[in-house]
Amino acid sequence: MPPIRPTPEQLSHLSDMLAAGDTYVAMSRYLGVNVDTLKRILVREGLSTSITAAKYVAAEEVQMWTRPCMGCKSTAPRPKNLYFCDDCRPEDDGTPDASSYFVSTSTRHSPSPLPLRRASAG
Ligand SMILES: [Zn+2]
Repeated sequence: MPPIRPTPEQLSHLSDMLAAGDTYVAMSRYLGVNVDTLKRILVREGLSTSITAAKYVAAEEVQMWTRPCMGCKSTAPRPKNLYFCDDCRPEDDGTPDASSYFVSTSTRHSPSPLPLRRASAG
């Protein structure tokens, strides 16, 4: 099925309808398409910012893995690169950032004095 390409006039009219607060149903009837197709068009043409574009663009790109959770060892599938399950995920989400850096800096133990060993020339 070829993608529906609204004319500039139609896009302009859709933009007006959006501004006027018309429903998606009304707009879909104007274009002669179903609502889902209308939403795709609005997202593709950048006319709507209220539609969650993620549903229509590349949602399938998210890769999952079953690496055991670093907290509870759960192997329930999670989006790749998440090392903790939802229950165990730490606040910093495993992503290094400034706040976690400062926390680790302030809580690190004081440096232990290195024993100075000198080879005794004995
Ligand atoms: Zn867990």
